[in-house]
Amino acid sequence: MKPLAVVPLCAFTDNYIWTLHNDTEAVVVDPGQSAPVIEYLQAKRLKLSTILLTHHHADHIGGVDDLIKEYSPVIYAPHESRIPQATHRVSAGQVVNLPQFAINLTVMEVPAHTRSHIAYYDGERLFCGDTLFAGGCGRLFEGTAQNMFDALSQFATLPEATLVCCAHEYTLANLRFARAAESDNPRIVEWETEAQKRREHNQPTLPTTIGLEKATNPFMRCHLPTVARSAADFSAQTLLDPVSVLGALREWKNQF
Ligand SMILES: [Zn+2]
Repeated sequence: MKPLAVVPLCAFTDNYIWTLHNDTEAVVVDPGQSAPVIEYLQAKRLKLSTILLTHHHADHIGGVDDLIKEYSPVIYAPHESRIPQATHRVSAGQVVNLPQFAINLTVMEVPAHTRSHIAYYDGERLFCGDTLFAGGCGRLFEGTAQNMFDALSQFATLPEATLVCCAHEYTLANLRFARAAESDNPRIVEWETEAQKRREHNQPTLPTTIGLEKATNPFMRCHLPTVARSAADFSAQTLLDPVSVLGALREWKNQF
């Protein structure tokens, strides 16, 4: 078996198109733009066999039509009419087999950022689209705080070493917010310093890990008194449960 490379290709201003490949073929996740993908595939002389889509937003599927013309890949996507290009619709618990890379990806349903959002987990890596980010979570365009809490709770059950392949480079802005939400957590400051170094060298801060997110991401720490207190201070309301804390954090972050 050829070694598997996992590479985040930069798109737009802060998107990553995660690309898995061996010596001959590639899989891409959420190609919002075709040009960076085609350029990479041509430089490496790779064929695109498969596209995995997490949700319908244009910055995640905008490159799909061009890639179909060029490579005719198999396309996995959620049951979602706003993604007409799918060749295979998948839902919770279904497995996407990629024998050429010796990986099997289990589909997780995480409706929150959009109502049909899914994620793919291969036992080592999580491709989570716009659900979980380093230090933050996606905006709630079509779901509720409860939906996001449930999605992040599913992710929290994965092994701590799981590599989280998020779709945007939002880490520094998120960690600045995380510091405000939980000012007494030294792990946030350490991670922010490390992330700053990487960005100064133009390197991605991703993938992050489930363990690091559980230690630093306020949206995965809504059960903690410090986080609950700062969310309550922001919203000027008594927040009785972690879901209400998450909802208040999300609103706070929207205007932070
Ligand atoms: Zn999105």
